[in-house]
Order: sequence, then C-alpha cells, then structure tokens
Amino acid sequence: HNPEIDRLLQAYEWSAKFYHYLLKNTEHGKAAMDYLRSRKFSDKMIDQFQIGFAPDRWDTLLQFLERRQFDLAEMERGGLLSARSEGKGYIDRFRGRIIFPIANRAGKVVAFAGRILGEGQPKYLNSPESKLFNKSRILYNLHQSKASIRKTRQLVLFEGYGDVISAWESGVHNGVATMGTSLTENHASMIKALADEVVIAYDGDRAGQAAALKALSMLEAVDLRVKVAVIPGGMDPDEFVSQYGGERFREQIIESAVSTVKFKLIYLKKNHILLEEDGKIAYVKEALPIIASLHSSTEREVYLKEIAAELELSYESLKQDCNLLRASMQ
Ligand code: ATP
Ligand code: MN
Ligand code: MN
Ligand code: MN
Repeated sequence: HNPEIDRLLQAYEWSAKFYHYLLKNTEHGKAAMDYLRSRKFSDKMIDQFQIGFAPDRWDTLLQFLERRQFDLAEMERGGLLSARSEGKGYIDRFRGRIIFPIANRAGKVVAFAGRILGEGQPKYLNSPESKLFNKSRILYNLHQSKASIRKTRQLVLFEGYGDVISAWESGVHNGVATMGTSLTENHASMIKALADEVVIAYDGDRAGQAAALKALSMLEAVDLRVKVAVIPGGMDPDEFVSQYGGERFREQIIESAVSTVKFKLIYLKKNHILLEEDGKIAYVKEALPIIASLHSSTEREVYLKEIAAELELSYESLKQDCNLLRASMQ
C-alpha cells in the first residue's frame, strides 16, 4: 500500500462530493445547473454520475484541500491543483467547468474531466496522468456497467461522457467511453475479458466514423464480435436521445447496429457519387476487397446482392469480379 495513493484517493473522493454539492446547492452552481437542464441531464443522472461544478475562481478547491490538511504539492501532482505560473503556490486546476468524476473499476474517483460551460477552448480539460490515472487503462463508467456487461456479454462503446449518461437514462446500462482518446490495445483486452460483443456507438460525424473504423479493427484483433451503430445526421448519441428520446435510441440505433462489413460499405459510399458511372465503378472497386475477404459465401452473396440492387448492376458480374479478386488474394 502506497500512502500517497491513499491520500490522493481520499482527496478525489472528497473533491467530487464537494463539486457535486456546489453544483446542486449553491449560487455558484446555478448557471451550470441551468446549462445541464438545457441539455436534458436529469437530477437522477446528475446524482448517479456525481456530476459537479467547479466555480470560476482560483482558490475554491485550494481552500477546501488546505482546510483538510492535504499536502498541496501532492495535490498538484495528482492533478487537482496547478502550480502558479509566477511565484510560489497553487491554484485550482478546474475553474468554471462542469465536473465529470472518472472512477476506476472499483468505483474510486481517480480523475476529473471538466467541461467548459457553453462554448470555449479547450472544451474538456482532464486531470493529468498520475499514479492513479492512466487514460489507456480507464473506461468511463465501467464500474457501473460491468454487471450488465458480464450478464449480457455485450458492451457499448461511446466517445463521450454525455453519451454514456444519456444512454444509461435510455436503459442502455452496458455503456462505457474512452477518455477522449482512441481505443488502445489495453482497452481491447480489458473488454475481451468481460464481453463477447461490442457495439461501437461513436459520433455520427466524419471524425467519429473514422474513429469507429479504427476501433473496430482493434476489437476484431482480439476476436470480439463487433457491430457499429450508425447515427444519422452527424449527431452524437447524446444529441439523438435529446431529439428523439431513449426508446428510439435503443431500437433504431443500438439494437439496429450493423455488421462491420455493412458499416465499411456505408462509410465508403459517402466518398462516392453513385449517380455517376465513374463513382459507381470507384465504389465497387473499393467495396469488393471488403466483401471478397469474407470467408462465408452466403455473406458474400448477401452484400453483393445489396450492392447489385442499389447500383442497378447484375449480381453475376459482381460475383465474377469478386471471385477473380478472391483468387488473386489466395
Ligand atoms: P458535449 O456533448 O458536451 O459537447 P461530446 O462528448 O459530444 O461533448 P466531442 O467533441 O464529441 O464531445 O468529443 C468526444 C469526447 O472527446 C469528449 O467526451 C471528451 O472525452 C473528448 N474531448 C473532446 N474535446 C476534448 C478536448 N479539447 N480535450 C480533451 N478531450 C476532449
Ligand atoms: Mn465528436
Ligand atoms: Mn460528441
Ligand atoms: Mn455531445
């Protein structure tokens, strides 16, 4: 047992409670509360995810930690305080931000993610890596979702904290998110130990879809079954829930997640204008290797027939090209 780690865990636990209290019960938290309400965060979710608010001052948490006799240099190393840029001493690291506590698997808070109120840069500020907190080993909400993940053998992977929370309120209790970074091999093997299947539910924008493509190959590399939830209109899961409600989110997004091949085809299609001959041919050229690499001839037939119908091509010629490609791949 490392006493510095214990003290830091204590500091994070108390700070999370403090920020949560400030959000809910003080004047300082009012604007933040209004902001969360405007984004349809319910009181129940604010409590369950222990969301908080760090006022826009230099010394709110500093004084709180000082009163409790914490070693401030230690708190700075742990990411709760920052060193003053001039002179000696410390200031609060999180100022004027909504606080999302990040817990480890055991449910102990080990870091904060702080979101700016409204617009501004950086949108999120995280605790730095510390003795407690290693981004590539933490999945947000795993402590609350692991029971459901074990039971269903399925995990839903999101990009953002708000997505995990909206999904939870919609009844999706097996959701986690990475800390704003891409999925690591570490994450993939952690997931493999709990689940057989992953539904990737990243943002519907270009960046999210590109990240989904990377995540799916990391997950397939450890032999997980992977599906991808496709969200229309460039929305993210949180926005979809706000706009259409939790039931539609579950049915039309999570339960309707598509196979990785289907996802790759949808992704590819966005780069081509299928009304034009050149566009059609270019699309087919890129789509065929994806389909040709499938071992099951039934699966190949399904996708080839879909493309044939959509592009008004004959299944026979697609199949012939696909088989030629397969032969050259052997
Ligand atoms: P919100 O709905 O509050 O705008 P979001 O979760 O939809 O937030 P995105 O811009 O989609 O935000 O980014 C996805 C995730 O990436 C965030 O939840 C956060 O973890 C991370 N992230 C985004 N911007 C930053 C940043 N500037 N620094 C660190 N992490 C970030
Ligand atoms: Mn995004
Ligand atoms: Mn998002
Ligand atoms: Mn969002």
